[in-house]
Amino acid sequence: NAAPADAKNLRVKLVLLGDSGVGKSCIVLQFVRGQFDATSKVTVGASFLSQTITLQDSTTVKFEIWDTAGQERYSALAPLYYRGAGVAVIVYDITSPESFKKAQYWVKELQKHGSPDIVMALVGNKADLHEKREVPSEDGMELAEKNGMFFIETSAKTADNINELFQEIGKRLPRPSQ
Ligand code: GDP
Ligand code: MG
Repeated sequence: NAAPADAKNLRVKLVLLGDSGVGKSCIVLQFVRGQFDATSKVTVGASFLSQTITLQDSTTVKFEIWDTAGQERYSALAPLYYRGAGVAVIVYDITSPESFKKAQYWVKELQKHGSPDIVMALVGNKADLHEKREVPSEDGMELAEKNGMFFIETSAKTADNINELFQEIGKRLPRPSQ
């Protein structure tokens, strides 16, 4: 019997969570368009972008990316935002301990209310600002490890680890059973 036609073509809703200003929109723009705009405007409303990647085993993954201006902060709206999401990317800024605290909040929130098989990634962004670092890599690693998440530090400015982030998420997606 042939495998389902879509076994090698995955499609998944991805949401980004994290404090305002940590670089969520810049990560998406670097990933989708290969651009960094230091003067990027605050996201107005929700924006929706999609990007398809090919994994090493030739599986393709179409990410349907939901980026918001932060409406998800209001806890009543948050579940609407991540309902049906197969991937949650929780972002903090390595120069901001406060944003790391907020990341911890999102980890808890998703474990309570997210779908049980959601793939969660923890991202320490603005890694290019290493001279201003206030959150040690070890703290991110530890939080991720405790919660079964994948951890990576990125720079949306230099593009460092941006493709790696999405490749690693792709590898961790559940495959449809055959
Ligand atoms: P969002 O509110 O989480 O969507 O954050 P934005 O993507 O709008 O970025 C907020 C600010 O941080 C902007 O001024 C960006 O130029 C800046 N920024 C985003 N990512 C990086 C990064 O990796 N390195 C540096 N140095 N600045 C960044
Ligand atoms: Mg934004």
